[in-house]
Amino acid sequence: MDAAPSLRIAHRIAITEAEGPGRRFALWVQGCSLKCPGCCNPELFDAAGGDRMSVDRLVTELAAAARDHGVVGLTVVGGEPLEQLAGVAALAAAVRPRGLGVLVFTGYTWGEAAQLPGFAALCANVDTFVCGRFDPRRREPLRGGRAFIGSTNQTLHHLSDRYAAPELWRRPAAMELRIRPTGEVEASGDPELQRRLLRALPHPDPSGER
Ligand code: SF4
Repeated sequence: MDAAPSLRIAHRIAITEAEGPGRRFALWVQGCSLKCPGCCNPELFDAAGGDRMSVDRLVTELAAAARDHGVVGLTVVGGEPLEQLAGVAALAAAVRPRGLGVLVFTGYTWGEAAQLPGFAALCANVDTFVCGRFDPRRREPLRGGRAFIGSTNQTLHHLSDRYAAPELWRRPAAMELRIRPTGEVEASGDPELQRRLLRALPHPDPSGER
């Protein structure tokens, strides 16, 4: 008998408005062999890192976020979602019938993705793909560029009308900060804005005295 579907994941945010149109549950999968120069998530390259989670548990969390916080969709980003294609397909197939949208960011071009075994089955439960390697020489402008997307070479592929309206992708770049109960601050959203914030923060004294 096949094992229950699961995914190796780096982290997840139950409620965000910085990872695609509307209020979303965002999932960063662990592992990416593409290693784009300038990738903002190199800690997600190692396919053996992160934690393995069952698709059932992720669906339960997502359903709670939808019920309690008005989350309207799932964003899968990485890491490389198509390097865990079976798990992502199982998750998308469980989520979409609940009326939630599914948005997948992949470093594979559309042509490369279409060659992958199982891609057609995944497409049946995805509303939109953002495809292509991140290219730091062609960053999307912070104003006037496409929101949520890293570089101008990356292409949008709408498989339904849900996210097809161009205005959903035209808004100023945004980032979010969350303060965890432990006091740790977690940032998400536009990587360039995160870099600017980090540069603006005072650097800690290397002596550790401040
Ligand atoms: S595909 Fe995405 S996660 Fe992988 S190296 Fe490129 S930007 Fe980073």
